[in-house]
Amino acid sequence: MSQPLSNTSKLCVHTITTKPWPIETAIDRFAAHGVKGMTVWRDALNGRDIAATGQRMRDAGLSVVSLCRGGFFPAATVAGRQAAIDDNRRAIDEAAALGAPLIVLVCGAVPGQPLDVSRAQIREGIEAVLPQAAAAGVRLAVEPLHPMYADSRSAINTMQQANDICDAINSPLVGVAVDVYHLWWDPQLQAEIERCGEAGRIFAFHICDWRTPTEDLLNDRGLMGEGCIPIRQIRGWVEGAGFDGFNEVEIFSNRLWAGDQEAFLGRIVEAYLQKS
Ligand code: ZN
Repeated sequence: MSQPLSNTSKLCVHTITTKPWPIETAIDRFAAHGVKGMTVWRDALNGRDIAATGQRMRDAGLSVVSLCRGGFFPAATVAGRQAAIDDNRRAIDEAAALGAPLIVLVCGAVPGQPLDVSRAQIREGIEAVLPQAAAAGVRLAVEPLHPMYADSRSAINTMQQANDICDAINSPLVGVAVDVYHLWWDPQLQAEIERCGEAGRIFAFHICDWRTPTEDLLNDRGLMGEGCIPIRQIRGWVEGAGFDGFNEVEIFSNRLWAGDQEAFLGRIVEAYLQKS
């Protein structure tokens, strides 16, 4: 078990966590609350000068941790798969402009298409964009998603599957984003985190909590401490495997987005220090 976090030096918050705020407000308020890193969702950049937005983040003392998200490689048609590759190339350009060293991949799935076919298409898609990622100096993190999303959002649902696809691709640019929400239930989690760490492939660590009952499959995540995930234990495994990057608070919640975001951000910092 890891020790409680004593300060916010590794606290990163995703823009989607405070979705009602435009990114300019998020930059100012995150910095005021002592947040040190920011992961940017692509929709937050709509209509912005991306390079200037990245500079504004750095000027406020925030590290640009990653860009969310690329992926969604599987498709039923060749044209669909090519469109996904093209979109991932745009994401790499955006990450480079923003100054983000990492893109998180929600890898995708097609309802009714066998999962192993989707996984093969994911591998092909990642391999297709790797040269551009290398040229841009941007790394790619496969994020395994909870199996409840295996129909349409990701055919990669466990750390083992993420490690396997990283082994198959075998590039120093391709690693894994460990998200406690998606992975906490897996009896192989500790062993597969160790395997990932031995390969030097833990690229990101996302935290939030699992509420009971969960009322919405996508947008009812909890603040740390509101649910049943052993966050501190999993953080201990990730740190024990050599990860020393940011702890990223990623919460999609209709309930929390409906409230005052300034008060919510205060609760995030408190929960980070006490429940993470
Ligand atoms: Zn995540």
